[in-house]
Amino acid sequence: MQEIPKVAIIGGGASGIFCAICLLSYGIPVVLFEKNKILGKKLLATGNGRCNIHNRHTSANRYQTSTFSLKEIQNILENFNFKAFVKICQKFGIALEICEDGRVYPQSNSAKSVLEVFSNILKDSENFTMALETEILELRQTQEGFLLKSSQGQGEYSCVVLACGSEAAPKLGGSDKGLELAKSLGLDIVQTYPSLVSLKLESSLICALSGVKIKAKLTLKKANQMLTEVLGDVLFTDYGISGFGVLDISSYVRLEKDLQIVLDFLPSFEERALENQLANLVKTYPNRNLISLLSGFLNPKIAKVFAQNFSWNPKNTKQLKQLVYRLKNFELKNPTTKGFENAEVSGGGISGKEINPKTMESQKCPNLYIIGEMLDIVGNRGGYNLAFAFSSAWICAEAIREKFCH
Ligand SMILES: Cc1cc2nc3c(=O)[nH]c(=O)nc-3n(C[C@H](O)[C@H](O)[C@H](O)COP(=O)(O)OP(=O)(O)OC[C@H]3O[C@@H](n4cnc5c(N)ncnc54)[C@H](O)[C@@H]3O)c2cc1C
Repeated sequence: MQEIPKVAIIGGGASGIFCAICLLSYGIPVVLFEKNKILGKKLLATGNGRCNIHNRHTSANRYQTSTFSLKEIQNILENFNFKAFVKICQKFGIALEICEDGRVYPQSNSAKSVLEVFSNILKDSENFTMALETEILELRQTQEGFLLKSSQGQGEYSCVVLACGSEAAPKLGGSDKGLELAKSLGLDIVQTYPSLVSLKLESSLICALSGVKIKAKLTLKKANQMLTEVLGDVLFTDYGISGFGVLDISSYVRLEKDLQIVLDFLPSFEERALENQLANLVKTYPNRNLISLLSGFLNPKIAKVFAQNFSWNPKNTKQLKQLVYRLKNFELKNPTTKGFENAEVSGGGISGKEINPKTMESQKCPNLYIIGEMLDIVGNRGGYNLAFAFSSAWICAEAIREKFCH
Protein backbone atom coordinates (compact mmCIF):
# COMPACT_ATOMS: atom_id res chain seq x y z
CA MET A 1 0.00 0.00 0.00
CA GLN A 2 1.30 3.45 -0.93
CA GLU A 3 1.09 6.44 1.39
CA ILE A 4 -2.37 8.13 1.51
CA PRO A 5 -2.12 10.77 -1.21
CA LYS A 6 -2.58 14.47 -0.85
CA VAL A 7 -5.09 15.18 -3.61
CA ALA A 8 -5.70 18.58 -5.16
CA ILE A 9 -8.81 18.98 -7.29
CA ILE A 10 -8.70 22.01 -9.56
CA GLY A 11 -12.25 23.17 -10.28
CA GLY A 12 -15.26 23.16 -7.96
CA GLY A 13 -17.96 22.40 -10.55
CA ALA A 14 -20.12 19.29 -10.96
CA SER A 15 -17.25 16.85 -11.63
CA GLY A 16 -14.80 18.34 -9.09
CA ILE A 17 -17.38 18.44 -6.28
CA PHE A 18 -18.55 14.88 -6.97
CA CYS A 19 -15.00 13.56 -7.17
CA ALA A 20 -14.17 15.27 -3.86
CA ILE A 21 -17.21 13.65 -2.20
CA CYS A 22 -16.20 10.18 -3.46
CA LEU A 23 -12.56 10.57 -2.37
CA LEU A 24 -13.55 11.89 1.07
CA SER A 25 -15.87 8.90 1.53
CA TYR A 26 -12.77 6.69 1.20
CA GLY A 27 -10.94 8.76 3.82
CA ILE A 28 -8.67 10.43 1.25
CA PRO A 29 -7.92 14.08 2.10
CA VAL A 30 -8.85 16.60 -0.58
CA VAL A 31 -8.08 20.25 -1.25
CA LEU A 32 -10.62 21.70 -3.70
CA PHE A 33 -9.54 24.83 -5.59
CA GLU A 34 -12.21 27.04 -7.13
CA LYS A 35 -11.59 30.42 -8.71
CA ASN A 36 -15.17 31.65 -8.17
CA LYS A 37 -16.52 32.92 -4.85
CA ILE A 38 -18.81 29.89 -4.63
CA LEU A 39 -18.74 26.26 -5.72
CA GLY A 40 -20.90 25.03 -8.61
CA LYS A 41 -21.82 28.30 -10.28
CA LYS A 42 -22.54 26.50 -13.58
CA LEU A 43 -24.38 23.70 -11.79
CA LEU A 44 -26.75 26.33 -10.37
CA ALA A 45 -27.65 27.45 -13.90
CA THR A 46 -28.36 23.97 -15.25
CA GLY A 47 -31.81 23.17 -16.63
CA ASN A 48 -32.80 26.83 -16.19
CA GLY A 49 -32.18 26.46 -12.48
CA ARG A 50 -34.10 23.16 -12.29
CA CYS A 51 -31.00 21.00 -12.93
CA ASN A 52 -31.51 18.29 -15.55
CA ILE A 53 -29.17 16.15 -13.49
CA HIS A 54 -29.04 12.89 -15.51
CA ASN A 55 -30.81 10.88 -18.19
CA ARG A 56 -31.96 7.30 -17.81
CA HIS A 57 -31.16 6.69 -21.52
CA THR A 58 -27.52 7.67 -21.09
CA SER A 59 -25.36 5.82 -23.61
CA ALA A 60 -22.32 6.55 -25.78
CA ASN A 61 -24.36 7.50 -28.85
CA ARG A 62 -25.56 10.65 -27.04
CA TYR A 63 -22.02 12.09 -27.10
CA GLN A 64 -19.62 13.51 -29.69
CA THR A 65 -15.86 13.11 -29.74
CA SER A 66 -13.11 12.73 -32.28
CA THR A 67 -10.56 10.94 -30.10
CA PHE A 68 -12.42 8.54 -27.77
CA SER A 69 -13.98 5.39 -29.15
CA LEU A 70 -17.68 4.80 -28.54
CA LYS A 71 -16.68 1.72 -26.54
CA GLU A 72 -14.46 3.82 -24.27
CA ILE A 73 -17.28 6.30 -23.62
CA GLN A 74 -19.72 3.45 -23.00
CA ASN A 75 -17.33 1.90 -20.46
CA ILE A 76 -16.94 5.20 -18.62
CA LEU A 77 -20.73 5.60 -18.47
CA GLU A 78 -21.34 2.00 -17.44
CA ASN A 79 -18.77 2.04 -14.67
CA PHE A 80 -20.95 4.52 -12.84
CA ASN A 81 -24.30 4.08 -14.54
CA PHE A 82 -27.74 5.54 -13.99
CA LYS A 83 -28.66 2.89 -11.41
CA ALA A 84 -25.52 3.65 -9.41
CA PHE A 85 -26.31 7.35 -9.63
CA VAL A 86 -29.85 6.83 -8.32
CA LYS A 87 -28.46 4.76 -5.44
CA ILE A 88 -25.94 7.39 -4.44
CA CYS A 89 -28.61 10.13 -4.65
CA GLN A 90 -30.78 8.07 -2.28
CA LYS A 91 -27.83 7.87 0.10
CA PHE A 92 -27.24 11.63 -0.11
CA GLY A 93 -30.94 12.39 0.31
CA ILE A 94 -31.53 13.80 -3.18
CA ALA A 95 -34.99 12.65 -4.34
CA LEU A 96 -35.23 12.33 -8.11
CA GLU A 97 -38.01 12.64 -10.64
CA ILE A 98 -37.71 10.75 -13.93
CA CYS A 99 -39.60 12.24 -16.89
CA GLU A 100 -41.20 10.09 -19.60
CA ASP A 101 -38.50 11.01 -22.11
CA GLY A 102 -35.77 9.90 -19.67
CA ARG A 103 -34.67 13.28 -18.35
CA VAL A 104 -34.01 13.29 -14.62
CA TYR A 105 -34.53 16.26 -12.30
CA PRO A 106 -34.33 16.61 -8.53
CA GLN A 107 -37.81 16.43 -6.92
CA SER A 108 -37.03 19.85 -5.47
CA ASN A 109 -36.89 21.16 -9.07
CA SER A 110 -33.97 23.20 -7.90
CA ALA A 111 -30.27 23.12 -8.78
CA LYS A 112 -29.72 25.09 -5.60
CA SER A 113 -30.97 22.22 -3.46
CA VAL A 114 -28.59 19.78 -5.22
CA LEU A 115 -25.66 22.09 -4.62
CA GLU A 116 -26.69 22.50 -1.00
CA VAL A 117 -26.72 18.73 -0.43
CA PHE A 118 -23.29 18.38 -2.06
CA SER A 119 -21.87 21.35 -0.11
CA ASN A 120 -23.16 19.99 3.22
CA ILE A 121 -21.46 16.64 2.59
CA LEU A 122 -18.19 18.43 1.86
CA LYS A 123 -18.54 20.68 4.91
CA ASP A 124 -19.15 17.68 7.18
CA SER A 125 -16.01 15.88 5.98
CA GLU A 126 -13.00 16.09 8.29
CA ASN A 127 -10.41 15.76 5.56
CA PHE A 128 -11.76 18.48 3.34
CA THR A 129 -10.13 21.82 2.61
CA MET A 130 -11.89 24.33 0.41
CA ALA A 131 -9.94 27.07 -1.35
CA LEU A 132 -12.43 29.47 -2.91
CA GLU A 133 -11.40 32.48 -4.98
CA THR A 134 -8.19 30.64 -5.71
CA GLU A 135 -7.30 30.29 -9.34
CA ILE A 136 -4.57 27.79 -10.17
CA LEU A 137 -2.28 29.59 -12.55
CA GLU A 138 0.54 27.09 -12.94
CA LEU A 139 0.86 23.33 -12.66
CA ARG A 140 4.29 21.69 -12.73
CA GLN A 141 5.49 18.13 -12.32
CA THR A 142 8.04 17.62 -9.53
CA GLN A 143 9.83 14.54 -8.16
CA GLU A 144 7.21 14.20 -5.42
CA GLY A 145 4.18 14.91 -7.59
CA PHE A 146 2.94 18.33 -8.64
CA LEU A 147 3.55 21.94 -7.69
CA LEU A 148 0.47 24.15 -7.90
CA LYS A 149 0.79 27.91 -8.03
CA SER A 150 -2.28 30.00 -7.39
CA SER A 151 -3.23 33.58 -6.91
CA GLN A 152 -2.87 32.87 -3.14
CA GLY A 153 0.43 30.95 -2.98
CA GLN A 154 1.74 27.52 -3.83
CA GLY A 155 1.73 23.93 -2.59
CA GLU A 156 2.82 20.39 -3.49
CA TYR A 157 0.44 17.50 -4.02
CA SER A 158 1.00 13.85 -4.83
CA CYS A 159 -2.08 13.64 -7.00
CA VAL A 160 -3.94 16.26 -9.08
CA VAL A 161 -7.41 16.07 -10.61
CA LEU A 162 -8.09 18.57 -13.38
CA ALA A 163 -11.83 19.38 -13.29
CA CYS A 164 -11.76 22.89 -14.76
CA GLY A 165 -14.67 22.56 -17.20
CA SER A 166 -14.63 24.48 -20.46
CA GLU A 167 -14.68 28.00 -21.82
CA ALA A 168 -18.46 27.83 -22.42
CA ALA A 169 -20.53 30.39 -20.48
CA PRO A 170 -17.67 32.61 -19.21
CA LYS A 171 -20.12 34.61 -17.06
CA LEU A 172 -20.55 31.47 -14.96
CA GLY A 173 -16.80 30.91 -14.67
CA GLY A 174 -16.15 29.13 -17.95
CA SER A 175 -12.55 29.51 -19.06
CA ASP A 176 -9.85 27.70 -21.02
CA LYS A 177 -7.39 27.95 -18.11
CA GLY A 178 -7.67 24.22 -17.43
CA LEU A 179 -6.71 23.37 -21.00
CA GLU A 180 -3.73 25.75 -20.71
CA LEU A 181 -2.59 23.90 -17.57
CA ALA A 182 -2.93 20.56 -19.40
CA LYS A 183 -1.06 21.94 -22.42
CA SER A 184 1.78 23.11 -20.17
CA LEU A 185 2.28 19.45 -19.20
CA GLY A 186 2.45 18.43 -22.86
CA LEU A 187 -1.09 17.05 -23.23
CA ASP A 188 -2.67 17.15 -26.67
CA ILE A 189 -5.81 19.25 -27.07
CA VAL A 190 -8.46 18.82 -29.76
CA GLN A 191 -9.64 22.24 -31.00
CA THR A 192 -12.62 23.37 -28.95
CA TYR A 193 -15.94 24.65 -30.31
CA PRO A 194 -19.14 26.03 -28.75
CA SER A 195 -21.99 23.54 -28.52
CA LEU A 196 -25.63 23.67 -27.37
CA VAL A 197 -25.66 27.24 -28.57
CA SER A 198 -27.88 29.60 -30.60
CA LEU A 199 -27.08 30.15 -34.27
CA LYS A 200 -26.41 33.36 -36.17
CA LEU A 201 -27.84 33.84 -39.66
CA GLU A 202 -27.58 36.63 -42.15
CA SER A 203 -31.18 36.71 -43.30
CA SER A 204 -33.40 39.77 -43.23
CA LEU A 205 -36.39 37.43 -43.49
CA ILE A 206 -35.46 35.68 -40.24
CA CYS A 207 -34.88 39.04 -38.50
CA ALA A 208 -38.40 40.05 -39.52
CA LEU A 209 -39.74 37.05 -37.57
CA SER A 210 -37.95 38.05 -34.37
CA GLY A 211 -39.90 37.01 -31.28
CA VAL A 212 -41.87 34.19 -32.95
CA LYS A 213 -41.52 30.68 -31.51
CA ILE A 214 -42.69 27.59 -33.40
CA LYS A 215 -42.23 23.84 -33.49
CA ALA A 216 -40.35 23.05 -36.72
CA LYS A 217 -38.23 20.41 -38.34
CA LEU A 218 -34.62 21.46 -38.83
CA THR A 219 -32.31 19.64 -41.22
CA LEU A 220 -28.64 20.56 -41.21
CA LYS A 221 -26.81 19.88 -44.47
CA LYS A 222 -23.34 20.26 -45.90
CA ALA A 223 -23.10 20.13 -49.69
CA ASN A 224 -26.59 18.62 -49.75
CA GLN A 225 -25.56 15.78 -47.42
CA MET A 226 -27.69 15.59 -44.28
CA LEU A 227 -25.67 15.96 -41.04
CA THR A 228 -28.59 15.82 -38.64
CA GLU A 229 -32.33 16.39 -38.40
CA VAL A 230 -34.45 17.31 -35.38
CA LEU A 231 -38.01 18.29 -34.58
CA GLY A 232 -38.04 20.96 -31.90
CA ASP A 233 -38.67 24.52 -30.77
CA VAL A 234 -37.28 27.30 -32.92
CA LEU A 235 -37.25 30.84 -31.61
CA PHE A 236 -36.55 33.53 -34.22
CA THR A 237 -34.36 36.36 -32.98
CA ASP A 238 -32.80 39.52 -34.34
CA TYR A 239 -29.49 37.68 -34.89
CA GLY A 240 -30.76 34.27 -36.08
CA ILE A 241 -32.40 31.34 -34.35
CA SER A 242 -32.48 29.88 -30.87
CA GLY A 243 -34.62 27.37 -28.95
CA PHE A 244 -34.18 23.70 -28.01
CA GLY A 245 -34.31 22.38 -31.59
CA VAL A 246 -31.57 24.80 -32.59
CA LEU A 247 -29.37 23.91 -29.60
CA ASP A 248 -29.76 20.27 -30.60
CA ILE A 249 -28.33 20.77 -34.09
CA SER A 250 -25.72 23.32 -32.98
CA SER A 251 -23.11 20.72 -32.00
CA TYR A 252 -22.92 19.70 -35.67
CA VAL A 253 -22.23 23.27 -36.80
CA ARG A 254 -18.86 23.10 -34.96
CA LEU A 255 -16.22 24.92 -36.94
CA GLU A 256 -17.71 23.94 -40.28
CA LYS A 257 -18.37 26.33 -43.15
CA ASP A 258 -20.82 26.26 -46.10
CA LEU A 259 -23.65 24.68 -44.14
CA GLN A 260 -27.35 25.07 -44.81
CA ILE A 261 -30.34 24.63 -42.55
CA VAL A 262 -33.56 23.49 -44.16
CA LEU A 263 -36.53 24.58 -42.09
CA ASP A 264 -39.89 22.87 -42.33
CA PHE A 265 -42.49 25.33 -41.00
CA LEU A 266 -45.27 22.73 -41.13
CA PRO A 267 -43.69 19.40 -40.15
CA SER A 268 -47.00 17.70 -39.34
CA PHE A 269 -48.19 18.01 -42.98
CA GLU A 270 -47.16 15.81 -45.89
CA GLU A 271 -46.34 18.02 -48.90
CA ARG A 272 -49.11 16.50 -51.01
CA ALA A 273 -51.77 16.82 -48.26
CA LEU A 274 -50.83 20.45 -47.64
CA GLU A 275 -51.01 21.20 -51.35
CA ASN A 276 -54.50 19.63 -51.56
CA GLN A 277 -55.75 21.56 -48.54
CA LEU A 278 -54.48 24.85 -49.90
CA ALA A 279 -55.89 24.09 -53.38
CA ASN A 280 -59.33 23.45 -51.82
CA LEU A 281 -59.10 26.73 -49.92
CA VAL A 282 -58.24 28.60 -53.11
CA LYS A 283 -61.26 27.00 -54.78
CA THR A 284 -63.60 27.89 -51.91
CA TYR A 285 -62.23 31.41 -51.42
CA PRO A 286 -60.84 32.50 -54.82
CA ASN A 287 -60.54 36.14 -53.78
CA ARG A 288 -58.53 35.65 -50.62
CA ASN A 289 -54.98 36.95 -50.55
CA LEU A 290 -52.03 34.77 -49.53
CA ILE A 291 -51.86 36.06 -45.94
CA SER A 292 -55.43 35.05 -45.22
CA LEU A 293 -54.97 31.68 -46.93
CA LEU A 294 -51.95 30.91 -44.77
CA SER A 295 -53.24 32.45 -41.56
CA GLY A 296 -54.95 29.24 -40.43
CA PHE A 297 -51.73 27.28 -40.82
CA LEU A 298 -48.96 29.60 -39.67
CA ASN A 299 -48.22 32.13 -36.98
CA PRO A 300 -49.58 35.45 -38.40
CA LYS A 301 -46.13 37.05 -38.48
CA ILE A 302 -44.75 34.13 -40.50
CA ALA A 303 -47.77 34.19 -42.84
CA LYS A 304 -47.21 37.91 -43.43
CA VAL A 305 -43.48 37.58 -44.11
CA PHE A 306 -44.09 34.66 -46.45
CA ALA A 307 -46.78 36.54 -48.34
CA GLN A 308 -44.55 39.59 -48.68
CA ASN A 309 -41.76 37.49 -50.16
CA PHE A 310 -43.75 35.33 -52.53
CA SER A 311 -45.34 36.55 -55.74
CA TRP A 312 -48.74 34.88 -55.63
CA ASN A 313 -51.20 34.18 -58.39
CA PRO A 314 -53.92 31.75 -57.20
CA LYS A 315 -54.69 30.71 -60.79
CA ASN A 316 -51.20 29.36 -61.32
CA THR A 317 -51.24 25.81 -59.87
CA LYS A 318 -47.47 25.49 -60.28
CA GLN A 319 -47.09 28.33 -57.80
CA LEU A 320 -49.04 26.41 -55.19
CA LYS A 321 -46.52 23.58 -55.48
CA GLN A 322 -43.66 26.09 -55.13
CA LEU A 323 -45.29 27.69 -52.13
CA VAL A 324 -45.71 24.35 -50.36
CA TYR A 325 -42.14 23.39 -51.23
CA ARG A 326 -40.85 26.63 -49.71
CA LEU A 327 -42.92 26.25 -46.57
CA LYS A 328 -41.46 22.81 -46.03
CA ASN A 329 -37.93 23.43 -47.35
CA PHE A 330 -37.00 26.94 -46.35
CA GLU A 331 -33.25 27.31 -46.82
CA LEU A 332 -31.04 29.24 -44.44
CA LYS A 333 -27.43 29.58 -45.56
CA ASN A 334 -24.16 29.69 -43.60
CA PRO A 335 -25.26 29.38 -39.96
CA THR A 336 -22.53 30.13 -37.43
CA THR A 337 -22.63 29.70 -33.67
CA LYS A 338 -23.12 32.55 -31.21
CA GLY A 339 -19.82 31.59 -29.60
CA PHE A 340 -18.72 30.40 -26.16
CA GLU A 341 -20.36 33.44 -24.54
CA ASN A 342 -23.78 31.88 -25.27
CA ALA A 343 -22.91 28.20 -25.31
CA GLU A 344 -23.90 25.71 -22.61
CA VAL A 345 -20.96 23.42 -23.30
CA SER A 346 -17.80 23.06 -25.34
CA GLY A 347 -16.85 20.29 -27.73
CA GLY A 348 -13.22 19.30 -28.22
CA GLY A 349 -10.79 19.43 -25.29
CA ILE A 350 -8.16 17.06 -23.96
CA SER A 351 -7.64 14.27 -26.47
CA GLY A 352 -8.87 10.78 -25.64
CA LYS A 353 -5.43 9.51 -26.64
CA GLU A 354 -4.02 11.20 -23.53
CA ILE A 355 -6.29 9.35 -21.08
CA ASN A 356 -6.63 5.87 -19.72
CA PRO A 357 -10.45 5.67 -19.84
CA LYS A 358 -10.49 2.97 -17.15
CA THR A 359 -8.98 5.38 -14.60
CA MET A 360 -9.20 8.88 -16.18
CA GLU A 361 -5.45 9.11 -15.51
CA SER A 362 -3.14 10.86 -17.95
CA GLN A 363 -1.02 8.47 -20.02
CA LYS A 364 1.89 10.97 -20.00
CA CYS A 365 1.79 12.27 -16.41
CA PRO A 366 1.16 9.59 -13.77
CA ASN A 367 -1.07 10.76 -10.89
CA LEU A 368 -2.68 13.46 -13.03
CA TYR A 369 -6.38 12.77 -13.63
CA ILE A 370 -8.79 14.60 -15.94
CA ILE A 371 -12.58 14.57 -15.62
CA GLY A 372 -15.73 16.30 -16.87
CA GLU A 373 -16.09 18.74 -19.70
CA MET A 374 -12.35 19.35 -20.12
CA LEU A 375 -12.18 16.12 -22.09
CA ASP A 376 -12.93 15.74 -25.79
CA ILE A 377 -16.41 14.40 -25.05
CA VAL A 378 -19.55 16.50 -25.29
CA GLY A 379 -23.09 15.33 -24.70
CA ASN A 380 -26.44 16.19 -26.23
CA ARG A 381 -28.98 18.27 -24.36
CA GLY A 382 -30.99 16.30 -21.80
CA GLY A 383 -28.78 15.70 -18.75
CA TYR A 384 -25.99 13.87 -20.58
CA ASN A 385 -23.23 16.35 -19.73
CA LEU A 386 -23.82 16.14 -15.99
CA ALA A 387 -24.13 12.35 -16.34
CA PHE A 388 -20.65 12.28 -17.88
CA ALA A 389 -19.26 14.67 -15.25
CA PHE A 390 -20.45 12.30 -12.47
CA SER A 391 -19.32 9.07 -14.16
CA SER A 392 -15.84 10.35 -14.96
CA ALA A 393 -15.49 11.79 -11.43
CA TRP A 394 -16.49 8.50 -9.81
CA ILE A 395 -14.06 6.46 -11.96
CA CYS A 396 -11.24 8.85 -11.12
CA ALA A 397 -11.93 8.63 -7.36
CA GLU A 398 -12.09 4.81 -7.55
CA ALA A 399 -8.79 4.71 -9.44
CA ILE A 400 -7.06 6.93 -6.87
CA ARG A 401 -8.39 4.74 -4.06
CA GLU A 402 -7.24 1.55 -5.83
CA LYS A 403 -3.81 2.97 -6.50
CA PHE A 404 -3.09 4.41 -3.09
CA CYS A 405 -5.29 2.63 -0.55
CA HIS A 406 -5.47 -0.99 -1.70
C1 LIG B 1 -26.72 27.61 -18.82
C2 LIG B 1 -26.28 26.17 -18.76
C3 LIG B 1 -27.23 25.18 -18.56
C4 LIG B 1 -26.85 23.83 -18.52
N1 LIG B 1 -27.80 22.89 -18.26
C5 LIG B 1 -27.44 21.59 -18.19
C6 LIG B 1 -28.40 20.60 -17.82
O1 LIG B 1 -29.54 20.90 -17.50
N2 LIG B 1 -27.98 19.28 -17.79
C7 LIG B 1 -26.68 18.92 -18.10
O2 LIG B 1 -26.37 17.73 -18.07
N3 LIG B 1 -25.75 19.86 -18.38
C8 LIG B 1 -26.09 21.16 -18.41
N4 LIG B 1 -25.13 22.12 -18.67
C9 LIG B 1 -23.73 21.67 -18.86
C10 LIG B 1 -23.10 21.33 -17.49
O3 LIG B 1 -23.32 22.39 -16.61
C11 LIG B 1 -21.59 21.08 -17.63
O4 LIG B 1 -21.34 20.12 -18.62
C12 LIG B 1 -20.99 20.60 -16.31
O5 LIG B 1 -21.16 21.59 -15.32
C13 LIG B 1 -19.51 20.28 -16.47
O6 LIG B 1 -18.96 19.99 -15.22
P1 LIG B 1 -17.41 20.24 -14.97
O7 LIG B 1 -17.16 19.94 -13.55
O8 LIG B 1 -16.62 19.55 -15.99
O9 LIG B 1 -17.20 21.79 -15.25
P2 LIG B 1 -17.83 23.06 -14.48
O10 LIG B 1 -19.10 22.71 -13.84
O11 LIG B 1 -17.79 24.17 -15.46
O12 LIG B 1 -16.79 23.34 -13.32
C14 LIG B 1 -15.45 23.76 -13.56
C15 LIG B 1 -15.05 24.69 -12.44
O13 LIG B 1 -13.64 24.90 -12.49
C16 LIG B 1 -13.37 26.25 -12.14
N5 LIG B 1 -12.05 26.55 -12.68
C17 LIG B 1 -11.68 26.60 -13.98
N6 LIG B 1 -10.36 26.83 -14.09
C18 LIG B 1 -9.88 26.95 -12.81
C19 LIG B 1 -8.58 27.21 -12.27
N7 LIG B 1 -7.52 27.36 -13.06
N8 LIG B 1 -8.45 27.27 -10.92
C20 LIG B 1 -9.54 27.11 -10.10
N9 LIG B 1 -10.79 26.86 -10.57
C21 LIG B 1 -10.96 26.78 -11.92
C22 LIG B 1 -14.52 27.01 -12.78
O14 LIG B 1 -14.71 28.27 -12.17
C23 LIG B 1 -15.69 26.06 -12.56
O15 LIG B 1 -16.38 26.35 -11.37
C24 LIG B 1 -25.48 23.47 -18.70
C25 LIG B 1 -24.52 24.48 -18.88
C26 LIG B 1 -24.91 25.80 -18.90
C27 LIG B 1 -23.86 26.87 -19.08
